[in-house]
Amino acid sequence: MALLTKAPRGTQDVLPSQSSRWQYVEATLLNTARLFGFKEIRFPTFEHTELFIRSVGDTTDVVQKEMYTFTDKGDRSITLRPEGTASVVRTALEHGLLNDALPMKASYVIPCFRYEKPQAGRLREFHQFGVEMFGSQSPNADAEVIGLVKNCFDTLGITDIALEINSIGCPECRPKYLKALREYFAARQEELCPTCQERLEKNPMRILDCKSPVCHDIAKDAPTGLEYLCQECKEHFEGLKKRLELMGIEYTVNPRIVRGLDYYTKTVFEFISQNIGAQGTVCGGGRYDGLIGQMGGAPTPAIGFAMGLERLLLVMDQCGAEFPPEQGCDVYIGSMGEAASLKAVELTARLREEGFSAECDLMNRSVKAQMKYADKIGARYSVILGENELSTGACQLKNMKNREITELKLDDSFVDAVYQQIMHSCYMDLEDSVEKMEL
Ligand SMILES: [Zn+2]
Ligand SMILES: [Zn+2]
Repeated sequence: MALLTKAPRGTQDVLPSQSSRWQYVEATLLNTARLFGFKEIRFPTFEHTELFIRSVGDTTDVVQKEMYTFTDKGDRSITLRPEGTASVVRTALEHGLLNDALPMKASYVIPCFRYEKPQAGRLREFHQFGVEMFGSQSPNADAEVIGLVKNCFDTLGITDIALEINSIGCPECRPKYLKALREYFAARQEELCPTCQERLEKNPMRILDCKSPVCHDIAKDAPTGLEYLCQECKEHFEGLKKRLELMGIEYTVNPRIVRGLDYYTKTVFEFISQNIGAQGTVCGGGRYDGLIGQMGGAPTPAIGFAMGLERLLLVMDQCGAEFPPEQGCDVYIGSMGEAASLKAVELTARLREEGFSAECDLMNRSVKAQMKYADKIGARYSVILGENELSTGACQLKNMKNREITELKLDDSFVDAVYQQIMHSCYMDLEDSVEKMEL
């Protein structure tokens, strides 16, 4: 029985009282992306398992331990998406989007699924905002994508967030760097954690961001990739830095930001919040010029990022970012008796037709209880209809904030008169806040 009324571990409900926060953040992110020419793309929640094995990589923790994979009734192996990039590449290839005018720019807000250890404090269903841009190898693209993230944070009022960038080279220069890394770590192989001992041959760059304190300490003096960049990668990285400076975006170079897979190239970046502790990365992104070719498309440069929305909301709360006030009910129409209740239903419908949010009694409550409810839902105005109002054809519109009363007729002029009152009080509110600002 308990299972019936308990959400699965690692999931989170968004209650009606909380959803406006999510709507605001999602709309702000997608709108900001639109300013940069990114249009929303939508794709299925599940894909063929093969897609993620090929793109996310079968040596990664995500694919080895964390995927929600099942066999469907048609005997296909299906996986709930652990991230968005693979699906966007698949969509672009399937629909020939790379044959259109490039760059292709797409944004998304999606739930993702990873079977993570509960103690890590991470959700198994979590939400990501991300963008992908296909077709440009110019550092302008890198700067634009980073600028988009920065713009999102600024618009949402997030302060105290730092940008770190790095370049992990290309297939031309990276092998030399990996060789140097292997030599460096091989000298202290026995001290590395078991995972990093395995990484040494296949994936020595990942030792640089290992969470084990011992590996972290050993990695301190490891050679950095920046020393090994080829001319092209060096120019690209310098080009990005110059553009960030022109755009007024502060950054630090952190050679420890790495990616484990071959298709990642050149720019990697992270936005880190000081506020949420060890798991401070709110957004991670970079180039993956090798992925589209690896998935069977014509080799096409690509760059993107993803940010976790749960973390983003956490950071917003911790740095005191403001959310717009909840949109309450404009008018509550209370009533006493059957005839008045019918009139309330009619007027409520007419107000809604004109775009007002209006409510009337659905619970057969007493007038006193109706007014208490109107208060609770934050109604700006209220009207009470009874026999008296119906016979005189007039009612009183009450401003719930300052208790001011306005006489209104219950005829065709009603909706217009309500509109006038609401406009008037908006104007007064505006004057109030201008006055406060002047003080
Ligand atoms: Zn290179
Ligand atoms: Zn390690």
